[in-house]
Amino acid sequence: MSLTRDQMLNEMGLSPQWKLREQPAVARAAKKSPMVASIAPPDRTPVVKTLAVEAIASSAASGAEREEQIAQFGWDQLRQSIAACRACGLCAERKQAVPGVGDENADWLFIGEGPGTDEEVQGEPFVGPAGKLLDAMLAAIDLKRGDDVYIANAVKCRPPDNRPPEAAEMAACAPFLKRQIALIQPRLIVLLGRAAAHALLGEEGLLASLRGKPFTYRAGERDIPVVVTYHPAYLLRTLPDKSKAWEDLCRARALMRVAKAD
Ligand code: SF4
Repeated sequence: MSLTRDQMLNEMGLSPQWKLREQPAVARAAKKSPMVASIAPPDRTPVVKTLAVEAIASSAASGAEREEQIAQFGWDQLRQSIAACRACGLCAERKQAVPGVGDENADWLFIGEGPGTDEEVQGEPFVGPAGKLLDAMLAAIDLKRGDDVYIANAVKCRPPDNRPPEAAEMAACAPFLKRQIALIQPRLIVLLGRAAAHALLGEEGLLASLRGKPFTYRAGERDIPVVVTYHPAYLLRTLPDKSKAWEDLCRARALMRVAKAD
């Protein structure tokens, strides 16, 4: 049985604090026209030979070549390449890679650090208790997983013992994340936790020092606003910081309104 938003917030102990107090000023605007939105998003990329996917998987391509090839992939090639990738040590114990999930033409992109045990089993980011909390956070600002929302991670394979991904692992996986952003073309990126901030922004400071800062991510000709907030798994352990995460989400929602108005 699926829960209503209020039921979900109550269940997670977030109500009434996390309730949306104002109505969204604008309905979901058209990054794409209604006509375009009703059909599958176009694959904006030229077809790249399967050979490139194989070369990347076997690490035959140099760093620059690999990044260049990944930058041309469409979704199918990207998924295949991630599934076969051996570019860092996380492939050794991989049961399956977890590329990401959601609306491939979403305005909202949420990025966490890496898949955990449950995520690896299910092949989807943010399942289990942290995933439930993320769903509640989304519901609090009238968002829903898969509906104008894409969820990805800095690394696509599970770090052993669910440890945070290392810098070298995030660097090896960065071309995949970069390509996901280029394909999705989100209006706003929300980084969940310190590792995600490090992976995308190169920021190594404590999460508390990154919250509230006006970051942007350069994607082609566009600067995408970026909001840094706590990882849901951290919030489950540190209840007082939920209110700070709520502030971050309110800021993200305000930035999205500005982005849609531009
Ligand atoms: Fe490749 Fe990323 Fe998995 Fe490392 S974490 S093996 S770079 S897909």
